[in-house]
Amino acid sequence: MAIHKTEAIVLKRRDYRETSYLLSLFTADFGKIYAQAKGARRKAGKFGSNFLPITNNKIVFYENHSGGLHIISQADIIDHFCNIDKQIERFTCAAYFLELVNAAMPLAEKNAEVFSLVMKFLQFLDKEDRINNIAQIFEVKFLNFSGFKPRVDCCVSCGGHIIAQSKFSFVLGGLLCAQCYAADRGACAVMQGTIATLNYIEKTDLEKIVNFRIGGTIRMELKQLLRNFIDFHLGQQFKSIQFSKKMKVAYV
Ligand SMILES: [Zn+2]
Repeated sequence: MAIHKTEAIVLKRRDYRETSYLLSLFTADFGKIYAQAKGARRKAGKFGSNFLPITNNKIVFYENHSGGLHIISQADIIDHFCNIDKQIERFTCAAYFLELVNAAMPLAEKNAEVFSLVMKFLQFLDKEDRINNIAQIFEVKFLNFSGFKPRVDCCVSCGGHIIAQSKFSFVLGGLLCAQCYAADRGACAVMQGTIATLNYIEKTDLEKIVNFRIGGTIRMELKQLLRNFIDFHLGQQFKSIQFSKKMKVAYV
């Protein structure tokens, strides 16, 4: 049985059997993994972490080669982003990021860009006072790094340049030029400013873009476009989004 050491962000924690936790973790070196922390609920102090979601931990685990759960043997907390817990907006936003990663990432595929993206955004939510459009910027970057990127640099049907008018096709995963509208009758009109903003976020370094302010109508359209695109491709309702609507929480 191989034993590994890595950093792990807790995406989800569930009680498991009498005394254990079942964990979905996003690790720096192994991507998303499912693992159990045996006896973690019974013996306080057995692990140096209580495996709460929205924490980063140093873990040691035994790899299960037959596809079952990996077994955690050691865990120590590195960062618990304590300011995120203090504000419902920040907490909901962080919960949404982790829910999105949990839903979209395949098991056991390392993705250093996504790991670094999640860490940077958790740190940002924890430390930064001014927060603008953080969920939309996270979504655009995440879609890019995770391979779900919508095609917005040219027509998704013919590959031609988008000169003026275009529509967005959720089914085909990108923009249609005016000549290709028939390829998806359900495609919806989208403003050029929204597409330009999406392209700009995609191409700009994270450090520069993280506090980017987006104008009113473009912000609304971009937010809706990304929400529909993600919901369409992942085919699931996000609990954090439902919660944020119910509580009228900003950011998400
Ligand atoms: Zn076309």
